[in-house]
Amino acid sequence: TDSDTADEAVRATCDDASTCKRFATSKGYWTDLYAQYFVRQIGERKAPEINRGYYGRVRGMNLLIDAFLKKTQCYCQVVNLGAGLDTTFWRLKDENIMPKKFFEVDFPMIVARKIHHIKTKPPLSKPLIETHSTDSLLLDGHSLDSDRYCIIGADLRDLPALEEKLKKFQINPELPTLFLSECVLVYMTPEKSSKLLNWVADTFPTAMFINYEQVNMNDRFGQIMIENLQRRQCNLAGVDVCQSLDSQKERFLSAGWESVNALDMMTVYSMLPWEDVARIERLEFLDEKELLHQLLQHYCICWAVKDKLSLGEASI
Ligand code: SAM
Repeated sequence: TDSDTADEAVRATCDDASTCKRFATSKGYWTDLYAQYFVRQIGERKAPEINRGYYGRVRGMNLLIDAFLKKTQCYCQVVNLGAGLDTTFWRLKDENIMPKKFFEVDFPMIVARKIHHIKTKPPLSKPLIETHSTDSLLLDGHSLDSDRYCIIGADLRDLPALEEKLKKFQINPELPTLFLSECVLVYMTPEKSSKLLNWVADTFPTAMFINYEQVNMNDRFGQIMIENLQRRQCNLAGVDVCQSLDSQKERFLSAGWESVNALDMMTVYSMLPWEDVARIERLEFLDEKELLHQLLQHYCICWAVKDKLSLGEASI
């Protein structure tokens, strides 16, 4: 059916993200010891502005993730929505800043692939076994559950099923919980994504939600971005919410979040530690600075908090 084709195109975006991250790490933009186990080939060359864009995305997300873990002293949970082949869990394990439990959710088909990689590659499976207290680790084709890490196959548009699965894997709504969505909500209709944001706000009294996605899409450059995805049958169903930083903030406030911040990636990029930015800008020559600026102005990071336990999350 049409909706199967549409979902398939959305699932394919998972490969885009992981091959771009794999390429950028192979060039030295940042270190990821685990991307190689999910994407074997380095793949074809990506333009320097794309690599710099991913650098800003990963650095920006990591700064906020690490700030939340610090604020909660790791006494918290992380739920990565539409995680794809993301490797954050392994980074946190190596850096000794693991939350109590790290959950990932994606379509069952993506989850099955990820589990296969984990099962067959010791550098991926070892940290799970090491952090697991019994010898019974739940591992079937569609889910994996250990003490500190779990992957769930579910559709984020089906909230009752999502809730049931998270419960089955012992999520604790009272614990401070960090939700991540990196280029995910934009593939859902505004109705579906706002229901999801509402459900999180209603269910988790102490939580932070970090969302990375497109913004300022109502100009010529945004139009071209939309057309490029449509050419691959990929519909940005949520693009209406991506008109401005204000509309990004408003969606959280109207879903019951207490406070919210949003920055476009041009701003985020300019706030990153300058020595490291100078280092990566030497990796590849970039002739057209304007193109990078355009690209960065069309993505944003938005983070919203609810702070029943008064942890001071709003200062993040
Ligand atoms: N967050 C990862 C990253 O940034 O590397 C992957 C991003 S990829 C662009 C989008 C991911 O969201 C895909 O893995 C896709 O399968 C997942 N996704 C989109 N809509 C979803 C839905 N309704 N339910 C579950 N997963 C979904």
